[in-house]
Amino acid sequence: MGTEKLRGIVIGERIKGESNKQLVVLAKGLGRVLLSARGAKNAKSKLLAATQLFCYADFVVYTGKGFTSVTQAELLHSFYGPRTDMEKLAEAVYLAELVERTCPEGMEQNAVLELLYYAFLVMEKGTLPPKLISRIFELKLLQLSGLFAPEACAVCERAEGPLYFDGRPGAFFCPDHRTKESRLVSEAVRQAFAFVLEREGRQVFGFQLSPEALEQLGVILREYMDVHMGLRLKSRDFFA
Ligand SMILES: [Zn+2]
Repeated sequence: MGTEKLRGIVIGERIKGESNKQLVVLAKGLGRVLLSARGAKNAKSKLLAATQLFCYADFVVYTGKGFTSVTQAELLHSFYGPRTDMEKLAEAVYLAELVERTCPEGMEQNAVLELLYYAFLVMEKGTLPPKLISRIFELKLLQLSGLFAPEACAVCERAEGPLYFDGRPGAFFCPDHRTKESRLVSEAVRQAFAFVLEREGRQVFGFQLSPEALEQLGVILREYMDVHMGLRLKSRDFFA
């Protein structure tokens, strides 16, 4: 119990009653935390500006018996940009939901927080297609979660030469071990994998992809997440 400061991004908000909000915040050093923000829906509330979805902010919180409530909030970055464009908004909502669903409560997730911050920043700047930002985010999140090893044949671990992907086991195969249903992974998609897996922080968002390669990357990652994360969110492919 007591007062403390925390810094993080609002990844979820639920309205509670007339004017209260419950916030889901991915916080530095703390991971996913639930905060109640009393009166935050009021137009005159001093908490209004910093308690919106996607806001990156410093919060002063008070923890009592079974609750943590926001007493002060200072906005650092609103990430208002993604709200003004339907496609960006859909992808930002998806990323926030993906983080909320995959990050366990109260477990430090600083690398994910940093990744989300840069994903929103790049989305706001508009230098990459929103869908590509989401695919890069998914791949890095899988890697950070220990669920994506560099792609190699699931049977013999060979990584050179052509690779095929089969969505049902969610695995890659060499030409000798490929399954009937597996499809060849394009060179552009393999380069995208390598680019993201070998880089950290903002650098992962440093390349473009053709629409065809982006399409294949999207299908592979969806099937991969289905199998290895057991997760398929409706907010993904909102505009597919
Ligand atoms: Zn093989």
